[in-house]
Amino acid sequence: MSSHSSNIVNASLFKKKVNYIGKKLLENNNDYNMNNNFFSIVFISDTHSEQLTENKRKNSSLEQYCMLLKKVKVHPEVCCIIHGGDAIQGFTNNSKKSNLQLKQFIAATKLELYEQMEPTKLIPFVMNIGNHDYCYDGKRDHSSDNFNDLVGENSDLIMLKKNSLDIILLETGDTHNGFVNINSFKKEINSVEKKIKKEHKKVLFLLDMHIPPQLGELSKYSNHTLNSQLTNEFVRFLNKYQNRIIAISTHHIHNFRSEDSALPIYIHPQGNIPIYLTSNGGQKDSSKHSKIQYKCLKMNFEMNENTPILKDVAEIK
Ligand SMILES: [Zn+2]
Repeated sequence: MSSHSSNIVNASLFKKKVNYIGKKLLENNNDYNMNNNFFSIVFISDTHSEQLTENKRKNSSLEQYCMLLKKVKVHPEVCCIIHGGDAIQGFTNNSKKSNLQLKQFIAATKLELYEQMEPTKLIPFVMNIGNHDYCYDGKRDHSSDNFNDLVGENSDLIMLKKNSLDIILLETGDTHNGFVNINSFKKEINSVEKKIKKEHKKVLFLLDMHIPPQLGELSKYSNHTLNSQLTNEFVRFLNKYQNRIIAISTHHIHNFRSEDSALPIYIHPQGNIPIYLTSNGGQKDSSKHSKIQYKCLKMNFEMNENTPILKDVAEIK
């Protein structure tokens, strides 16, 4: 065990919220791995994990997800795993049951990524919120209390590479056509912009959003994309930061059949920003688990004088 990690890898850290742990590990890794010129970021999502019961153990969505994590772990260049939301299947009307499911999902993730690994090889993990991660408990709509208690903020900006690369975790809400309403979405975009302005001018961004914008091919799935009002607001934001956003990962649409999810589903003309769709970490219809090929995306970067360049994207399956 190297001495630098031992001070942060301890039991009390691993009891903290998942995104807090991820951020701490990222900070720690950055302090000691500044010379890494090649690195990768992995995007996984839509695990829709359900509570394990004895008869559901085999091929459960949670087990499939853990198998995928095992495949990611063998790549030493992976510096972070981003989960794009819908971690759990959830219960729309039972906050307690959803809470248990999320706890089980988080316990499985920590076991796979943080236990019995050498401290220097821990892969930081952070999560975005998906529509299934909210709960309606009868008193409140759109409750993200479970997520906030166990994971972290609804939307966030997280440093991946010090002074060069951050990820924006954009919240896209819980309704079938996007956020709760345009005003709350505008408010969120505003707060993201404030966070961007605070960053060093040289920092570039990846952006993760659970529900895709209504652009290009994605428009065919209008029930599962941000509505046009929200998409317009998002495009305004994209155009404004076109020189700083490298790529977008989005999820949520399960039935999109593409030969190769490593190809962008859309390239935003201003700034040539590629949008990738991955939602193959899981599948909400549990009867189909055995037929789904679980996969995630690995974005490979090269650092060129402190500027991260996206070299290529590959599937891990
Ligand atoms: Zn979803």
